Amino acid sequence: MNSEKLSKRLAAVASFVEQGATIADIGSDHAYLPCFLVKEAKISKAIAGEVVKGPFESAVKNVQKKGLTDAITVRLANGLEAIHECDGVDTVTIAGMGGPLIASILRDGAEKLKSVKRIITQPNIHATSIREWAVQNGWRIVDEQILKEDNKIYEIIVLEKGDVEYGELEMLVGPYLLKQKSDVFFEKWKRELDEWERVLSSLENAGNTLEINEKKEQLRKKIELIGGALIH
Ligand code: SAM
Repeated sequence: MNSEKLSKRLAAVASFVEQGATIADIGSDHAYLPCFLVKEAKISKAIAGEVVKGPFESAVKNVQKKGLTDAITVRLANGLEAIHECDGVDTVTIAGMGGPLIASILRDGAEKLKSVKRIITQPNIHATSIREWAVQNGWRIVDEQILKEDNKIYEIIVLEKGDVEYGELEMLVGPYLLKQKSDVFFEKWKRELDEWERVLSSLENAGNTLEINEKKEQLRKKIELIGGALIH
């Protein structure tokens, strides 16, 4: 992967960035995504934020190598602290991290989201944390995608401002993904279901403490929910 040829995963994230947006890409190791979007003339201005020095330096070098320093500002910063008011950022992208970490970045940076219109997230795991953050903070899901690359399954969740309520199953699997029910969706939840059933059966022989019983009850509930969703 490089900024001319993105991975299938990052290309899918890029496809949700609107023409002419001003983006802040948070956790922008190598700044591949902003470089690609500027090169493609989809955007003309971006912030690349990175909290770790090594990846920050890679992003700086890559932006310099591509001759994009006028368009892309790289900042060493924690989460949304990379965004300054004068940047005019209207779109935030956060890709390639766990859902709970992405949700905590959004929670900690609430002030910086006031003028943001669209958030594009790509959690590697536990996408539900992002849906939970969204409904609790006045954001609604406007699109979702699920895809497979190198035998790994990724979800993308696109948010815009608005209040909406989702059912328990929609929160777990995603309202748009539930409607689409793609082959990758079935594969992901079949894998999860198999894993929960494996854990549940090992817990059946693990005694009867309150903690174990609660865990078993949670698993049975999720198995029932997902079992229903997997019926074509
Ligand atoms: N976004 C790129 C992608 O999807 O290919 C890079 C993903 S990489 C696995 C995650 C990056 O996020 C790392 O470079 C890490 O240092 C950075 N990161 C983690 N927590 C962060 C935070 N709170 N603020 C900014 N960057 C963060």
